[in-house]
Amino acid sequence: AKDNGGSGYRFFTEEMNRKALHRMKMESSLRKALDRNELMLYYQPLVNEDNRILGMEALLRWRHPELGLILPDDFIRITEETGIIVPVGRWVLQTACVQTKRWHDMGYSDLFVAVNLSARQIQESDFEQMVIDIIEESGLPPRYLKLEVTESSVIQNPEVCIAKMKTLRARGITFSIDDFGTGYSSLSYLKRFPIDALKIDRSFISDAMNSKGDQEIIKTIIAMARNLKIDAVAEGVETEAQKNFLASYGCNSMQGFLFAHPVPVDQFMNLLNRQQQR
Ligand code: C2E
Ligand code: CA
Ligand code: CA
Ligand code: CA
Repeated sequence: AKDNGGSGYRFFTEEMNRKALHRMKMESSLRKALDRNELMLYYQPLVNEDNRILGMEALLRWRHPELGLILPDDFIRITEETGIIVPVGRWVLQTACVQTKRWHDMGYSDLFVAVNLSARQIQESDFEQMVIDIIEESGLPPRYLKLEVTESSVIQNPEVCIAKMKTLRARGITFSIDDFGTGYSSLSYLKRFPIDALKIDRSFISDAMNSKGDQEIIKTIIAMARNLKIDAVAEGVETEAQKNFLASYGCNSMQGFLFAHPVPVDQFMNLLNRQQQR
């Protein structure tokens, strides 16, 4: 038994070493990823109930030289904990604005782009100026930029966040609360935030057809949005039944595999072209 305990302990530390080593490797290769052009953006359309593309969400991908395409859930945390998210987030914003301006110039001139923000980025003292500089350099009219923030990232320091959001909103930039319903925001709390849309979390949509409870939550969020005179947006829409349910309660924009997966720029162009020919 003593031997087993000993080997169990050794196994445990080896496991920890392995994880720590993996993390260190990830961290050092992430630091180089930007300079090596390994980061790229995929775009996923947001559509109305007639499947018309209203805009797109920019979603980060990492083309790792050995590991292949890595999704954000496997590296965003490390970029946040190390602060690498600050330069990476700036690159995301700049790339998304420049690309959207290109699409505007090609004639798709009413597309908006939604960009995800981490708490860490908002906390930077030059956050607002960074956003303003990037949008001005890109030439994209600010009203076509939607910034997505989560409840948890704005709740840490609400007064400072509200002030920063107001500065950007005065320029025409809009804000959505992402993953909405997973936090604790009450209607009265939400009213203090200068926001333009609630993005209903995917978890409620995915079970909606089997769960009366989730249906009630979705209806409540749509009603909250209406009460606040802002938009309700649904993410993770995968079936016609989900789409019809959402549309019947007045959810005015949707995103999900039913319409399209996130895709690189050239494939997003195909989606736009196909729509124009219809
Ligand atoms: P999110 O902001 O909630 O983005 C939506 C996620 O749902 C995306 O995952 C998208 O691919 C996925 N999705 C879209 N439609 C469907 C569907 O119908 N079914 C299912 N099962 N999934 C769907 P992705 O691209 O892996 O991104 C994961 C998360 O990583 C994002 O969640 C966001 O929180 C974060 N993220 C992505 N890009 C960035 C970025 O540039 N900056 C920051 N800070 N976070 C990012
Ligand atoms: Ca998002
Ligand atoms: Ca989500
Ligand atoms: Ca999210």
